[in-house]
Amino acid sequence: MSAEALPVATPAQVRTYARRLIVRHPRALAGVLALHALAAATGLVTPRLLGELVEGVRDGHAAIDAVGLAIAGFVTVQAVLTRYAYFASARLGERVLAELREEFVDRVLALPLSRVERAGTGDLVTRASRDVDTLASSVRYALPETLVAVVVGGFTAGALLLTGPLVALPALVTAPLLWAVMRWYLPRARGGYLRENAAWSRIAAGLTETVQGARTVEALGLAGRRHARGDADIAESYRAERYTLRLRMVLLPAAELGLVLPVVATLVTGGFLYIHGHASLAQVTAATLYAQQLIEPVDIVLFRLDELQLGGASLARLLGVGHVPPDRAAGGRVPEGERLTARGVRYSYRPGQDVLHGVDLDLRPGERLAMVGPSGAGKSTLGRLLAGVDGPRAGAVTVGADGGVPLVELPLDDLRGHVALVTQEHHVFQGTLRENLVMARPGASDAEIAQVLEAVDWDGPGLDARVGAGATGADAATLSPAQAQQLALARLVLADPHTLVLDEATSLLDPRAARRLERSLAAVLDGRTVVAIAHRLHTAHDADRVAVVEDGRVTELGTHDELIAREGSYAALWASWHGTP
Ligand code: ADP
Repeated sequence: MSAEALPVATPAQVRTYARRLIVRHPRALAGVLALHALAAATGLVTPRLLGELVEGVRDGHAAIDAVGLAIAGFVTVQAVLTRYAYFASARLGERVLAELREEFVDRVLALPLSRVERAGTGDLVTRASRDVDTLASSVRYALPETLVAVVVGGFTAGALLLTGPLVALPALVTAPLLWAVMRWYLPRARGGYLRENAAWSRIAAGLTETVQGARTVEALGLAGRRHARGDADIAESYRAERYTLRLRMVLLPAAELGLVLPVVATLVTGGFLYIHGHASLAQVTAATLYAQQLIEPVDIVLFRLDELQLGGASLARLLGVGHVPPDRAAGGRVPEGERLTARGVRYSYRPGQDVLHGVDLDLRPGERLAMVGPSGAGKSTLGRLLAGVDGPRAGAVTVGADGGVPLVELPLDDLRGHVALVTQEHHVFQGTLRENLVMARPGASDAEIAQVLEAVDWDGPGLDARVGAGATGADAATLSPAQAQQLALARLVLADPHTLVLDEATSLLDPRAARRLERSLAAVLDGRTVVAIAHRLHTAHDADRVAVVEDGRVTELGTHDELIAREGSYAALWASWHGTP
């Protein structure tokens, strides 16, 4: 299955979002900027004082002690202000970051399951780890430092101009060079970094796939091919990194030159201006010091821009996750009744290749319907649609009387109160047993939980035991596969859906555990509508009705006896299974 990468936000979308992000906490931001501006302003007094001092020394009437004391005072005030300014910006940064993370989690949780499956987990994992980290470092360091540098740089440039326009001019000699280099660099950097991150996603996707499918890889002797894919991914990642490295190799020397030259130019031109009487010694001294002071903020802006680009690329990938069109839209209608109906349902995993071709199916409340048919006929797919895990491409699966409400219009929490899919996958979440259960019905009391556990014949640890991968400590417990399955059933009882879709719920267990579990299952199924996907035929015999699915259609529907009497596909299947009809 070829993975289809999740979308990436466009530059315009990222800019809009970033702008909103910056002004989301206007008061905190104003405070931070004001503190930095104040710190910068106090830092600008020193060069002026030094300029006066130099001139005073030349003229022989310098008040060295007083000026020295004043400078010490301003430096101290600047240090204190800077400390608080950084503290305030760090706090703001962390707050924004926390919000970003929460929003990302919301976006991920809202992703349609089908889309996640198509994209593969590697892409999502890389976005959740590498991209979140990159963005974090941007928001933590690059963003505040750039803002501060812009403030400080602006103030310093202003002070330089106030010192004298003539002595300020030489500081601008390299501005065109810096401008041109950045114009060249920035557009290339975005593409380069996006490509770098996509390459990382591919490596992660390939690795997770190999690890998850290790048995298959081994069984089919695919190690060579997996190696080749890994090598190709690494080669692409290498090329992507080389590209951005080349970009930096142009940027860095140019920036270095652009930063140092203005100081030299100011000093040389200033000396010339002084000799010809166009500038005072104090002006030249102060201007040179300001030019020197400008290096740091400009340097920060240039280099943090690079990081901001990286952060921007990551933000584009994080925001992109939110641009997957939802496969469900809450319509606000509340279904009346428990009748589940499929009308003209079509579904395709790949565009143009329908695997269901217009399925109609009416479930009678309380009945047990077995779905049989050859492997690949579409039973599991139909089961997922009946459970509302996915929406059909055309047609609708609805619940309730009078046409009903489409399952995809129900909020997920409500949906689970109507219909649930039971498969062989039983995830035990990290946490206590209680936490593992109440997620099915938030607010459930211990008494309710105890009742439910009894219903599924629970023989595992108590409610406070810590379960799930990596549980450690005195209260840690490891659940057997049968217990994990019981836990899943208990969750179902708590969620209390009126309709259940069973996709081979008990087939993985050894026969003794299976019998036990069947008892628990029977308790769970009691009184509910059940669609059992019977990959083996014996379940069909005991069901109220049997639906035969062939090639994406329901071809026969009726009781076991009716279908046997019809002498169609089901009768043939049954005969081939049992020898006699
Ligand atoms: P059954 O449960 O009857 O064995 P499925 O519903 O699993 O049938 O599959 C129906 C068809 O859909 C098959 O042709 C299968 O190859 C295809 N299919 C199932 N799952 C996927 C998937 N995730 N991506 C692409 N095709 C799929």
